[in-house]
Amino acid sequence: MLDIRVEKTATPKDLPKADNPLKFGTIFTDHMFVMDYDIENGWQDARIIPYQPISLEPSAMVFHYGQEMFEGLKAYKTEDGKTLLFRPDKNIERANKTNRRICIPEIPEEDFLQAIKEVVKLDESWIPTKPGTSLYIRPFVIATDPFLGVRPSDTYKFMIILSPVGAYYPEGLNPVKIWIEDDYVRAVKGGIGDAKTGANYVASLKAQVKAHDEGYSQVLWLDGVERKYVEEVGAMNIFFKINGTIVTPVLTGSILPGVTRDSVINLCKSWGLPVEERRISIQEIHEAHQNGTLEEVFGTGTAAVISPVGQLRWEDTIMKVKDGGIGEYSQKLYDTITGIQLGKIEDNFQWIVEV
Ligand SMILES: *Cc1c(COP(=O)(O)O)cnc(C)c1O
Repeated sequence: MLDIRVEKTATPKDLPKADNPLKFGTIFTDHMFVMDYDIENGWQDARIIPYQPISLEPSAMVFHYGQEMFEGLKAYKTEDGKTLLFRPDKNIERANKTNRRICIPEIPEEDFLQAIKEVVKLDESWIPTKPGTSLYIRPFVIATDPFLGVRPSDTYKFMIILSPVGAYYPEGLNPVKIWIEDDYVRAVKGGIGDAKTGANYVASLKAQVKAHDEGYSQVLWLDGVERKYVEEVGAMNIFFKINGTIVTPVLTGSILPGVTRDSVINLCKSWGLPVEERRISIQEIHEAHQNGTLEEVFGTGTAAVISPVGQLRWEDTIMKVKDGGIGEYSQKLYDTITGIQLGKIEDNFQWIVEV
């Protein structure tokens, strides 16, 4: 058990008004969790303090070589007032996988979960209750040694901040238009594509700007070697329904292993649908579109849960999916997962953890 010191804010902020739509990641709650690491003491000085700026040396290593990891999960308020987390163990396991990959000391799993629970509990009143809303939880670690040489830092700061977020699609599920990027790449096998780090995102910005300029909301990445096989979309994994089978790229080392991805695979299998994790070439998707067997395309991730794809643009080819509408399984998966998250649908997989 962590001994977490709690310093409550003397000046609580106003809660966001229930009728104002919340923008993603713009408002933060009253408190945050902080814990420091040094070689002599390990992780120490766990505390929950008022949300506030932090002070770092300009030479802090995170600013120069990007030794940073993050996670993202959500807390939900049920109709009977319970606070629920969705598969936090998976996020914590993945966090330590990321830590190992980028030479950050691991955080004991039970301490990590305790930290999430305690800070969420303290700011529970910030969890919005309108349909589709939730409290986004952002744990992250930064390297803090004041040093310009390249090596893993000897000191770190682990923090958890909380942000009430609105429905990703306020008017219900809304199909997105996706740009298939065949020039820039996000990640390569052997790199850090399967770790949740800011560095992967900075590599993605240029193509995202390009896609936006062309009127597309997200980028679909192809493999970094041949630019031939589908990898993932922005901050989401990608699924296709081809001729009755659910197909998603196999985790080859350059794809982020999403918690939502894993949940979708489990649910589809439990419904008796054939599920294949394998390499999928963009040529195969194009052919399936041509011969009418590309039945659904959707992205999966914590922020939107399920994001139906209505259109794919590959070089000069535009592939419309479901006539730009929402597929049957996209809707069913969205309804089921959000139902489990809100405690409205039976949790047969033991995915829910009460705070
Ligand atoms: C976080 C993330 C995802 C989705 O993972 P979830 O655990 O489902 O939220 C997918 N791709 C990338 C690159 C990510 O950073």
